[in-house]
Amino acid sequence: ILSVDQVSKTYKSGNRVLTVLDEVNFQVKQGESIAIVGPSGSGKTTLLGLCAGLDSASKGSVKLNGKALEDLSEDERAMVRSQDVGFIFQNFQLLPTLTALENVMVPLELKKRKDAKERATSLLKKVGLEERMSHYPTQLSGGEQQRVSIARAFANEPKILFADEPTGNLDTDTGEMIEDLIFELNREQGTTLVLVTHDPELAKKTNRIIRIKGGKIQEAIDE
Ligand code: ATP
Repeated sequence: ILSVDQVSKTYKSGNRVLTVLDEVNFQVKQGESIAIVGPSGSGKTTLLGLCAGLDSASKGSVKLNGKALEDLSEDERAMVRSQDVGFIFQNFQLLPTLTALENVMVPLELKKRKDAKERATSLLKKVGLEERMSHYPTQLSGGEQQRVSIARAFANEPKILFADEPTGNLDTDTGEMIEDLIFELNREQGTTLVLVTHDPELAKKTNRIIRIKGGKIQEAIDE
């Protein structure tokens, strides 16, 4: 479902060029879960952004669900993101002016689903927030906000879910609960999972670990 071929990413600052990713290659199959690990600043978030079509590669090709992202216009990429992709971020990124329920409804309404409210309600029940649906993000704990963002990410039954340090801002117990939820939905919906993490315990729960260092993939460990 995801194929990264000879992908490089460089950033220019003044007259200096910083190579963050240097001809990276890997593939992910439908339904698989992988973890991207590596030292701080090694380009993990950058790589995730390229795979998810949030940013474009300087060189090489990223194919997501059969589409080469570099051949698409920005509008077409936005379409791929809303149809095939879900995201979970370290800092949740909920819309502050919307309630929990409304946040989960956003992707469903973008797809003009008539059952948006029912589906959002059932997802919030699934993540254990039926008592918190009309709360605003500031009225929710970090773990609760992340549960809302999981419900939102899975709302459109994405083929692939990208998660950047999904448990990075949470205490251990809450983090484990969030992990269980992500893997449960990964199994139930057959969603492919690509996650960036510093947590070796979380990485071990995936099918495969990709380690990145100095812009290169150092090792791909098959479990
Ligand atoms: P961390 O684990 O600390 O989150 P990371 O592995 O996710 O780090 P990235 O956030 O991908 O690393 O950043 C990789 C490098 O690219 C860093 O040196 C960063 O400063 C640089 N970088 C990221 N985004 C930009 C940008 N928009 N412009 C210039 N440099 C950038």
